[in-house]
Amino acid sequence: MVSNITSKEDKQNYQLTIFESALIGMLIFSSENKILKYNKEAETLFEDPGQLNEKSFDDLFIIDLPLDFKKLFYGSDKTINPYWENILRIKRKNKEILWANVRLNKISNKNIGDELILCQIHKISTFNDPKDKLEYNAHLLVELINNIPDNIFIKDTKSRFILANTCVARLMGANVPDEILGKTDYDFFPKKLAGKYRKDELEIIEAGQAKLNIIEQVIDKNRNRKWFSTSKLPLKNEKGEIIGIMGIGRDITLLVKEQKALRKAKYEAEKADNLKSAFLANMSHEIRTPLNGILGFSQFLLQYIPPDPKAEKYVDFILQNGVRLLNLISDIIDASKIESKQLEIIKRTFSLNEIFIQLEHSTLESLRLYNKTHITLETELSLPDNECYIYNDDQRIKQVLHNFLVNAIKFTQQGSINFGYRIVEKRLYFYVKDTGIGIKSEDSHTIFKRFTQVDNSLGRKYEGTGLGLSIAKGLILLLGGEIGVNSQKGKGSEFFFTLPYVKKSPAIQMMNKETDSPEQKKI
Ligand code: ADP
Repeated sequence: MVSNITSKEDKQNYQLTIFESALIGMLIFSSENKILKYNKEAETLFEDPGQLNEKSFDDLFIIDLPLDFKKLFYGSDKTINPYWENILRIKRKNKEILWANVRLNKISNKNIGDELILCQIHKISTFNDPKDKLEYNAHLLVELINNIPDNIFIKDTKSRFILANTCVARLMGANVPDEILGKTDYDFFPKKLAGKYRKDELEIIEAGQAKLNIIEQVIDKNRNRKWFSTSKLPLKNEKGEIIGIMGIGRDITLLVKEQKALRKAKYEAEKADNLKSAFLANMSHEIRTPLNGILGFSQFLLQYIPPDPKAEKYVDFILQNGVRLLNLISDIIDASKIESKQLEIIKRTFSLNEIFIQLEHSTLESLRLYNKTHITLETELSLPDNECYIYNDDQRIKQVLHNFLVNAIKFTQQGSINFGYRIVEKRLYFYVKDTGIGIKSEDSHTIFKRFTQVDNSLGRKYEGTGLGLSIAKGLILLLGGEIGVNSQKGKGSEFFFTLPYVKKSPAIQMMNKETDSPEQKKI
């Protein structure tokens, strides 16, 4: 029975006994870093009976920089730590390696009116014997393997577990890893699943090659489906013979679920976008029909109205704006069809030179219309008329070149427009080159996106919808080509696309014309 500690003397004796017989090393330092008192365990740790007095902290521990107690614990700085802790090597006479967890804190002693430093030393390890060190390392390794939140396991060539960590044990419904040692996946998982794992492992053993990041399903003890990303590697002995496999697996169930949700959201968004595009395409078609009527009858009207310049001007105005509206609607239809993958590609054999001549005529006409006849137009046709037949969608190729040419006229005030085709690395290279305003390199990719214009301010100088180039890109990709631009701000631009060169003979074009059944491909 412990009698009541009442007197001051009793209390001091009691405290002293605790200090003396504590199983951790204890030292008391003055604020000047000199040992004032120490207990028995400290003597044992430092193998220095009766010799510790007056020694400093740095005399006892291997430490990079001498400790400055004043800086650590005194002064007016409020951020000063209430304690200091570190793992240090103890300086021992016999050079034996001994690591300890060392903790310092400030204590007050009213009797001597000074602040003192208490040093507590918890021994971590002694490695007198290399065997101890091995044991210690093995212990660390086991701790590491068991505390890693991934599955870690080793199996022999018969796929029996010879090592497993806590994570694997938990997955299998075992309390401790030992419970699964010697067993196989067949003891824990459905036969089909275990068979799949075994097949993988046999392949690794036979081929001696790792299988990395296998995404596999696992059914845990509560019948929950989980997803793991597992890497399995062959395990070899010192002779290089394969004696089993080792594996590490990470639970990626959450990730897989998130990816699935993302895929679903993407699919839904695409579906909605396609619906919208299909709606636009149909809607625009419906608008085009009455508009064609208006345009047809306006032309008709021009012939029948009495010769009156005012009336002619008005009808002409209806016609011009009607054509603009029709072109805009056609662009919306094309863009929507490309988006909803409803665009029809109609291939036939045709003469390249013919479409270039048609484009040359229409471009000269446009230059006249916009009072830009001072701009010179040059056409390069690099194949002779009888060798320029190819098999592709002539209307769509013409449409893309037409878009390029319309832009070239729009964005060029003086100089020249050159366009044509040549054969580059066995592919057809089409280009429209101008000496216009040019494009900054950072804009040269975005202009191929829908509704993108370099200048999209309301008061912009050039009219347009920003659809032309995106349609051109969509079409060229469908035709199996590549599209791009080389340009320099203020110097001009060269828009180009390439297509596979499939040479045809004119005879086939004749046949096409006779049967009039071009190949239609709905993409
Ligand atoms: P739009 O011409 O109707 O605005 P486009 O898709 O045809 O739409 O072109 C997108 C943008 O690319 C234009 O607004 C313009 O900023 C730039 N661009 C296209 N062609 C040229 C060109 N030849 N020279 C300079 N800029 C051009």
